[in-house]
Amino acid sequence: MFRQAKTVLQKLRYLSLNGQQHAWRLKSSSATERALQYRPGQRIHGFTVKEVAAVPDLFLTAVKLTHDKTGAQYLHAARDDSNNLFSVQFRTTPMDSTGVPHILEHTVLCGSEKYPCRDPFFKMLNRSLTTFMNAFTASDYTMYPFSTQNAKDFQNLLSVYLDAVFFPCLREQDFWQEGWRLENENPTDPNSPLVFKGVVFNEMKGAFSDNERLYAQHLQNKMYPDHTYSVVSGGEPLAIPDLSWEQLKLFHATHYHPSNARFFTYGDLPLEQHLKQIEEEALSRFDRTDPNTQVPSQPHWSSPREDHVTCSPDALAPDPAKQNTLCMSYLLGDITDTFEGFTLSLLSSLMISGPNSPFYKALIEPKIGTDFSSVVGYDGSTKEASFSIGLQGMAEDDIERVKQIINQTIEDIIMNGFEEERIEALLHKIEIQMKHQSTSFGLSLASYIASCWNHDGDPVELLQISDSVAKFRQTLKENPRFLQDKVQHYFKENTHRLTLSMSPDEAYLEKQARAEEEKLQQKIQTLSDSHKKEIYDKGLELLAAQSQTQDVSCLPALKVSDIEPTINITPVEMGAAAGVPVQYCEQPTNGMVYFRAMCSLNTLPEDLRLYVPLFCTAITKMGCGGLDYRQQAQQMELRTGGMSVSTQVIPDSTQLDMYEQGVLLFSSCLERNLPQMFQLWSDMFNSPHFDDEERLRVLVMMSAQELANGISYSGHMYAMTRAGRNLSPAGELAESLGGMEQVKFMKRIAEMSDLSQVLRTLPRIKKHLFNPNNMRCAVNATPQKMSDAAGQLDNFMKDVAGNRRERKSVRPNIIERPLDPLAGSGPSRKLISEPNFQPCQMKTFFPLPFPVNFVSECIRTVPFSHDDYASLCVLARMMTAKFLHGEIREKGGAYGGGAKMGGGGVFTFYSYRDPNSVQTLSAFRKGVDWAKSGQFTQQDIDEAKLSVFSAVDSPVAPSDKGMGRFLSGITDEMKQSHRESLFAVDHKHLLDVAGRYLGVGQRTCGVAILGPENDTIKKDPSWIVK
Ligand SMILES: [Zn+2]
Repeated sequence: MFRQAKTVLQKLRYLSLNGQQHAWRLKSSSATERALQYRPGQRIHGFTVKEVAAVPDLFLTAVKLTHDKTGAQYLHAARDDSNNLFSVQFRTTPMDSTGVPHILEHTVLCGSEKYPCRDPFFKMLNRSLTTFMNAFTASDYTMYPFSTQNAKDFQNLLSVYLDAVFFPCLREQDFWQEGWRLENENPTDPNSPLVFKGVVFNEMKGAFSDNERLYAQHLQNKMYPDHTYSVVSGGEPLAIPDLSWEQLKLFHATHYHPSNARFFTYGDLPLEQHLKQIEEEALSRFDRTDPNTQVPSQPHWSSPREDHVTCSPDALAPDPAKQNTLCMSYLLGDITDTFEGFTLSLLSSLMISGPNSPFYKALIEPKIGTDFSSVVGYDGSTKEASFSIGLQGMAEDDIERVKQIINQTIEDIIMNGFEEERIEALLHKIEIQMKHQSTSFGLSLASYIASCWNHDGDPVELLQISDSVAKFRQTLKENPRFLQDKVQHYFKENTHRLTLSMSPDEAYLEKQARAEEEKLQQKIQTLSDSHKKEIYDKGLELLAAQSQTQDVSCLPALKVSDIEPTINITPVEMGAAAGVPVQYCEQPTNGMVYFRAMCSLNTLPEDLRLYVPLFCTAITKMGCGGLDYRQQAQQMELRTGGMSVSTQVIPDSTQLDMYEQGVLLFSSCLERNLPQMFQLWSDMFNSPHFDDEERLRVLVMMSAQELANGISYSGHMYAMTRAGRNLSPAGELAESLGGMEQVKFMKRIAEMSDLSQVLRTLPRIKKHLFNPNNMRCAVNATPQKMSDAAGQLDNFMKDVAGNRRERKSVRPNIIERPLDPLAGSGPSRKLISEPNFQPCQMKTFFPLPFPVNFVSECIRTVPFSHDDYASLCVLARMMTAKFLHGEIREKGGAYGGGAKMGGGGVFTFYSYRDPNSVQTLSAFRKGVDWAKSGQFTQQDIDEAKLSVFSAVDSPVAPSDKGMGRFLSGITDEMKQSHRESLFAVDHKHLLDVAGRYLGVGQRTCGVAILGPENDTIKKDPSWIVK
């Protein structure tokens, strides 16, 4: 995976500073306590302890060590969390754009000394109960993290990871497959034309079809033009074919050395065991080197610069005439200065976040562009940080105006500073982030410290967040102009400033294609006939290797018997608040309260359906009660951890043609802010402001832009949703609310000059939605706080009781199901049944300006509670690992692909960033033939089961416990019985379901492709081209 600066930035921006916390109540033998026993100077398995620090904010103990012989650095975060994490990162600082660190990241995972089988990384996905396994290439480091809750599994994965990074095979064939190669278009036909192939080659073509990523890449390259940040670490598609296999091996030898490595472990497993294994299996075989990978500081410019780049036009942009992006970027201080980094990222939020920030007021509200550019804000992913501000979706004529507004806004900030309440709101947010428990805390930590540590900053200091908060408060107290002075220094007086604009070029894709063709011809011209013969032979060799059955017995594996036979029960209690059913779930939430309300939409007239997603966006952002939208945003930041409303399509667990539709309200807050949080909901229910057309226009533009931008990244999701559209009533609704239909609908609305009609739909939707008759609620909180929460909820429900009105359902077939399936009576939820629904086959193609495709085929099968459901789940995993991965990724060159079974009873095939289109559909069919042939082993089945269970048993945060039951009515008993069915799946079942469901009839399958112009499809009348 190639992780661009922006992604890292987002990680930091949305950092959820917490993990699961099963048992953080202090036990004397807790992991955090045990780690406090280490002493600086203590030597353990070739390492020396350098520092031991308690980090009470995050409930962990940090232990910093160095490896004596090689100088490898090590940080252990001991915490009572069973989701243990390991990561190793190397400082990788390429000086060209051949993508060498990225191709190396892929190739080291293709086989190693102890584990020489092809692709042990992907193989391990099926031999483990891992909760996360991946690898990332950033601009200046490459990271290999995994996590698991099982101690034996941790050792297995650690062994595979260490061997992969330190002793990889780096075979020439791996380089061809993962990097780039010349090959006959059809490898078995020596007369077919030679083309470029390779996983990273295609991945990067796909990555740069996303205009936001393209812009972010240009921006970084041009801001830091003098060293490693001036090149594309992931690989510039046309520079990738300049990389040789020898260069790849050399880069490994110099960069993947312990002296250039940083190890990080996290969780409740003992540190000694990790150190011992790492020393024995890897580090003991190395001596110290000087990797010489430091990144020098970027020399400061003496005067600001301007630059311009082009991109492909966006067919889905809300306004085709407004497709320019413009940002001004400022070079900031070194990220290893922890407090400066903390201050500048806070300052960045104050400047740009939410409707109360000066840049939102100055740039978003005048509607010059559709939204901020996605690079906007503080970016600490490079050695020296940067801050960018600017817009996307703007007209070329507005460029000068935007520059002028930015400069003026900076002047205004220096003059006026920030309101105290906004600073408080931000510090409150940090407090919430530290308390909120997420399930991937270890991974969040690894990402959080990676950049700073990579440049020899102190990761422990970075974790002491309260220290920074305290120092910040103190500094501000001593100098009330502290922040204004920073703005003066870093923005007004900074001459290292880049103004970068990007505009669409109609001929962009054509030029790209031509450049690729030229590069290809250059390569081909140098080839003699014997070279060409060699290429053909190598192509066949690769194909043969890819088709060969693998002996993977060298790899460690868990057994099915290592899987817990039963699930942990999550106790919930049912109650009522003013007649509305409530599910209470007591959890160690660390002082947070989580509230949800599901409002069903069964009375909503059809013509309003497409507007529901917009309603969900608007209801929390247009003002309510006595608050205008700015005050509403301010109160939400000051009092809550966020309030959101989202659409829900919940398929029934027993019948395919039954589902529930509605919206889900979700919010969280610190216990002390419960009354204020419910007051805000109450104001939104009783008196939302749906009268400001200009405000709505801002929200519409932003939503339309966000949807348009999301397609190149999540194209497979859109293809899957579309392919499933005609197979079930729930599929149809999902497409309207969140598929391509919704994208096009929002684009249409964004193009309307008059939104008054749209504005009038909002109160109509509200009447149907916010009706206590259609509601059920859920609260997750600590046992101590539960009764208080129940009382507050009761008051809230009484407060909104005025919305209670009998409305006749427009749907004739409403079925009531008890909320507690075992109770048989009591409160119920209402589902829509469409027993006369006729599934039908449809093949839809969306031509889009991407160089790659997203392909999906869906087949209607059985619902969750059906006997065959478990077999289909295992079958999907097995087909993915044993067949589709090889066909679609290895041979086809797509970034990803496979099959999955969905809760709505739809069996889905998909591919991601795929150079092929209709060929991939035949790979899906071949997958079905493979399954029906029954040529799979017990080992294959067991591996698929492990892989299914690692998803089924992935950790659930305290805030999310009990949600399957609350939303879908799937109880722990039902989950347990599903679990038993999974264990029981055997060869016969798999063969049976493959034949029965996947050998499809015409009406039960749907197909969709998003991708570039396609002649085959155009000529085929069975396709609908959108
Ligand atoms: Zn990649």
